[in-house]
Amino acid sequence: MRYGIFGDIHGNFDALEAVLAEMDKQNVDEALCLGDIVGYGAEPHRCIQKVREIGCICLAGNHDHAAIGKLDIDFFNLYAREAAVWTRAALEPEDREFLGSLGFVEHLPNFAVVHGSLHGPEMFNYISTIFDADLSFDALDKPLLFYGHTHIPLTFFDTKPMTYTMDAEIPVGDGTRTLVNVGSVGQPRDEDPRACFAIYDDAIGSVKITRVEYDVHQAAQKIIAAGLPEALAIRLEMGK
Ligand code: ZN
Repeated sequence: MRYGIFGDIHGNFDALEAVLAEMDKQNVDEALCLGDIVGYGAEPHRCIQKVREIGCICLAGNHDHAAIGKLDIDFFNLYAREAAVWTRAALEPEDREFLGSLGFVEHLPNFAVVHGSLHGPEMFNYISTIFDADLSFDALDKPLLFYGHTHIPLTFFDTKPMTYTMDAEIPVGDGTRTLVNVGSVGQPRDEDPRACFAIYDDAIGSVKITRVEYDVHQAAQKIIAAGLPEALAIRLEMGK
């Protein structure tokens, strides 16, 4: 079985389309969405429609909840807050209903998926350090966890001492428990502006962090045309 695991789309329809086309090309059998469909980008409604059309498992992200008033945006930075307010106004009632229906964690036979972290998923904590990773390993009863939220593809291995990598090819299924951050479709922050997601092949025990070219400039122009902060367009083109 080949899984296409993607998240942090952030209203970037151009990036989402490119990722879905790549999944088709790569013979993905099942897609899974880790949340943050909206926030920052200019096409939240189209992105939600597209994810619903695929009919895949989809989790809630903090920006999804912010956009429907389920999460306090006082702790968001200025641009995120402005984007959340803009996004709220851009959603249709059916979008709000869909975002409100999303869960925090999904357990599949061999792995689990979450937006931010497995320790208190509803708190949207980050897994950025070995300390954070340790807390999520403690809460994980599967060999493998896919997560997002930081927009940086980073993998932790539950070795003693713990190890991590930013390699694109990740061996899994050799008994070492692993946390894989799948990166971000619509707003990468690892200085590579290409859209990012993961392909997990459980038959061969491998995960591949996959990058896809798309028209970043067009997505950035849409942000400006929508009246969203220009900084959000600039960061998109820089992959930051
Ligand atoms: Zn995000």
